[in-house]
Amino acid sequence: MRAHNPRTGEADYEFAVNSRAEIASEATRLRDAQPAWEALGPEGRAAVMLKFADAVDAAAGPIAEALAVDTGRHAISWIEVEALSNNIRRWAELGPKLFVGLDRVSKPSATPGFEIRSDYSAYPLFGAIAPWNFPVILSHIDAVPALMAGCAALVKPSEVTPRFSEPLREVLAEVSELPLAYVMGGAEVGQALIEEVDYVCFTGSTATGRKVAEAAARQLIPANLELGGKDPMIVTASADPHWAAGVALRASIVATGQACQSIERIFVAREIAEPFLTALVEAAEQVEITYPDPKQGHIGPFIFPDQAGKVQAQIEEAVSQGARVLTGGKVEQLGGANYLRPTVLADVTPDMAVLRDETFGPVLPVKICDDLEQAIALANDTTYGLSAAVLAGSLEEAVQVGACLEAGAISLQDGALTTMVNDATNHSRKTSGLGPSRMGDEGLLRFLRHRAMIAQTGQALPIDAYREGQG
Ligand code: NAD
Repeated sequence: MRAHNPRTGEADYEFAVNSRAEIASEATRLRDAQPAWEALGPEGRAAVMLKFADAVDAAAGPIAEALAVDTGRHAISWIEVEALSNNIRRWAELGPKLFVGLDRVSKPSATPGFEIRSDYSAYPLFGAIAPWNFPVILSHIDAVPALMAGCAALVKPSEVTPRFSEPLREVLAEVSELPLAYVMGGAEVGQALIEEVDYVCFTGSTATGRKVAEAAARQLIPANLELGGKDPMIVTASADPHWAAGVALRASIVATGQACQSIERIFVAREIAEPFLTALVEAAEQVEITYPDPKQGHIGPFIFPDQAGKVQAQIEEAVSQGARVLTGGKVEQLGGANYLRPTVLADVTPDMAVLRDETFGPVLPVKICDDLEQAIALANDTTYGLSAAVLAGSLEEAVQVGACLEAGAISLQDGALTTMVNDATNHSRKTSGLGPSRMGDEGLLRFLRHRAMIAQTGQALPIDAYREGQG
C-alpha cells in the first residue's frame, strides 16, 4: 500500500499489508505470550509498562518525526508522543490500585447459606482499530489499559498514517516482555483482526463503526465503539462575547478541525451575537496556516486528501442554500497540500449538511438563537452525541445548560476538553459510540471478565424442594 504525504500530496511511502496468515500468526504469538504476561500481576505489568514509557521517551524524536510526516503537523506530533508516555505512566500507576479487592469472598444479601468467591481474568487478546486523525494517541488509548488489565494487544493503525509504527516497532523490540504488536493495512486487515481477537475497540467513523459492530457480533465478541461527532457549543446571553469567540475558535480549529471532539456547531444568544461574530472573525483572521514553514503557524494541511473536498463541498452547499461566508471558505492548494483557513459561516439553517453531518475541518457555522430553549433544542437535534460545550456568564449557569445536553461529555466554560481529562468517565450518546467508557476506571476494568464461584455453605437443596403439589 502507499500512503500520501499530506504536505506534498505525493504517495511517497510504501508499506507491506499484512496477509491473513501473518495476522493469524501474530495473534497466535500474542496469545501464547499472554498467560505469562497476566501472571506477572498488576505490579509486575506496571513495571514493564514503565519501561515501555521510558523507551517511548527515548525514541520520542524518531516517533514524532515519522508522525509529523504522517499528519503534516509538527507541534501536535510531539504532543501526541508525550501523551502516549504520559498515558502509559498514568495507567501503570493507577492500574494496580484498581485490582485491590477484586478477588473477594462475599455473602449474597438475599440468599443466605451461599458464599460467593469472585475472581477475574483478562480477555486474552485485545484488538484495536485506529483512525488517522491522532494516529499515535488513538492507536494506544485503549491498548494501554488493556495491557495493564493483562490482555495481549494487537493494534491496527490507519493505513492513511502508517509511518509512526516503524519507530514504535523498534521501541517494542526493547521491551520484549510486552505482548503488543501492530498489523498494517486497511479495511480487510481490520476485519481479519476482528476474527482473531476476543475484544475489539474501534475509533473511527460511525459508518465503519457499524461494520465493526456487525463483524464483532458475528464473532460474539464485545465491541467498544468511539465514533464521530457533531459537537455543539452554546454561548449564552450572559457570556463575554470576546472571551467566547476565542474559546470557540480554538475548540473548532485545533488540528485543522480533524478531531472527533471539535466544536462543529455554535449556537449563540441573539443579545451578544453581533460582538461575538465580530470577535470571532477577527480572531479567525489572525490564525496562520503552517505554510511554507511547517514549524510556523497554527493549523496544518488536511491529512486525508479526500477530506478537503468533502469540507469544501459542505461549505459550497451551505452557501448555495443561503449561508454567508464571513471569513475563509476556500480550500487552498499550496505545495501539493490542501489548507483551509478558519471559516466562519453565518445565516446557517439546521437542514444544511454543515450543521447536520460531521465536517472534520476548521469550519464554524454560527446560528443565532432567540432563547436558551431554542439553543438547547438545536444542539440536541443531531444523530450524534459525542460531546458538547457551554459558555456562560457563570459556571452555575453553564452547569444548568450542560445538564440539558444529550452527549457523553460536556465542556463547561471551555471547549473540546473530552479527551484531555483521562479520569472523566463518559458514555457517548446516539450514534457517537457504544460500550463502556475509555476514560476513568472503567477504561481498564472493562477488559476483565469476572468469575463467580458460588459455594453452598449450608445444606444442598433436596429435590423435594421442587416437588409439585406441596402448596
Ligand atoms: P474510518 O472509520 O474511515 O477508519 C478507521 C479505521 O477503520 C481505519 O484503521 C480503517 O482502516 C479501519 N476500517 C475501515 N473499514 C473497515 C472495516 N470494514 N472493517 C474494519 N476496519 C475498517 O475513520 P477515519 O476516517 O480514519 O477517522 C475519522 C473518524 O474517526 C471521524 O468520524 C472521527 O469523528 C472519528 N473519531 C472518533 C473519535 C472518538 O473518540 N469518538 C476519535 C477520533 C476520531
